[in-house]
Amino acid sequence: MPPKSYAQADSTRCASCGACKHECPKGAISVWKGCYAVVDPELCVGCGQCAKVCPTGCIELKTREEAHQ
Ligand code: SF4
Ligand code: SF4
Repeated sequence: MPPKSYAQADSTRCASCGACKHECPKGAISVWKGCYAVVDPELCVGCGQCAKVCPTGCIELKTREEAHQ
């Protein structure tokens, strides 16, 4: 069963600092310089660790249904 929710970063508020990427236990986050954090929904387990460390508070845990709206 896939997890109920996964993390999504708001591209307009992400500072590309990489804190979320370092915190993620699943290696689900990619951050490119000058760009924003992208979460691989296949790897994310919805633990919320990335959202806790994000300095701009731009990561939200969303259900898969919400993410596709
Ligand atoms: S919710 Fe957990 S598994 Fe998913 S991207 Fe954030 S730290 Fe990684
Ligand atoms: S911790 Fe927040 S601001 Fe930093 S790269 Fe991740 S989503 Fe962007």
